[in-house]
Amino acid sequence: MDNTIFTRIDELTQRALNGGAVTAAEGRWLIGLDDDYTPWLMAGADRIRKTFRGNEIEVCAISNVRSGNCSENCSFCSQSGHSKTAAPAYDYIPKEQLLAQARQAREWGAADFGIVSKGWGVRSEKEKAKLQEYFTAMDGDSDIGRCASLGALDKETAVMLKGMGLENYHHNLESAESFFDQVCTSHTYQENIDTIKHARDAGLRVCAGGILGMGESLDQRIELAETLRNLGVESVPMNFLNPVAGTPMANVEPMKPYDILRSIATFRYLMPKAEIRIAGGRQFLGDMQAMIFMAGASGVMIGDYLTTKGRSVQDDLKMIRDLKLEVRGDTQQRREVTATSA
Ligand code: SF4
Repeated sequence: MDNTIFTRIDELTQRALNGGAVTAAEGRWLIGLDDDYTPWLMAGADRIRKTFRGNEIEVCAISNVRSGNCSENCSFCSQSGHSKTAAPAYDYIPKEQLLAQARQAREWGAADFGIVSKGWGVRSEKEKAKLQEYFTAMDGDSDIGRCASLGALDKETAVMLKGMGLENYHHNLESAESFFDQVCTSHTYQENIDTIKHARDAGLRVCAGGILGMGESLDQRIELAETLRNLGVESVPMNFLNPVAGTPMANVEPMKPYDILRSIATFRYLMPKAEIRIAGGRQFLGDMQAMIFMAGASGVMIGDYLTTKGRSVQDDLKMIRDLKLEVRGDTQQRREVTATSA
């Protein structure tokens, strides 16, 4: 073991704790560390998380309200109409079903609930009417925070959604711009960036991250983190590719546990104050799932994902309690934390 490496990690930890920025080059060094040094890196990321995000974990859940046969060709996605997968295809679920899911999520302790629809934006009157119906039904039904992930937004649509009662908009960049042509060619990276800006300008909290492990390099993981940091994204969901049969990424090797943990920790060093939320693909951590928080994550998605089953919610909540962490179950409190950490 090389003691100078521990010393350098400590220096970067101290800098982040003091409010200084870790550079992209330093982030690249952190994400490339050997497994032997990863627990030390995680310990630093854990201190940064505790300092800037406290001891509370943000929990959210989603509903896939419309699934399958998507016009876009995102090569990781089981819902793309360009891939032949076993993902279900259905039109908008009834609002009663959505309300039941939102209530269940609130009972679990989720502060936010995301309405996720396949496709690339809210274009038709039918889509607008359905979203209005959902948000009106949710209004007053529970105090859970209202999120949505609906593809690209223009300025007018972002303002319209805000007017409907939407609070948070989720829109992943998916990957680094330099890797995006391997991910999707039916829309552009710039559309993703513009969507984030329109959501922010409309007064929505932005939740934007990506999927790691799609074949991108370590440089490109840092490029993604740097782009998110420069955009000032408050909430950063991190996913790890779950290769789905029938998609172009079906044969990509899933990431190894230490690789995942090092990535989470490095994102924490680069974005000390952000909400770093772990979503799809955490099953590849196996028995090391609890370590996401020790690696600097401050949030987690519970329940099922878009087209795959999640871990038992009871196991996830127990994991948080066993670590002596708490669920930030109060939506209003989450809103206040967001306002002060943005
Ligand atoms: S990620 Fe979204 S836009 Fe891309 S194919 Fe899947 S559902 Fe469609």
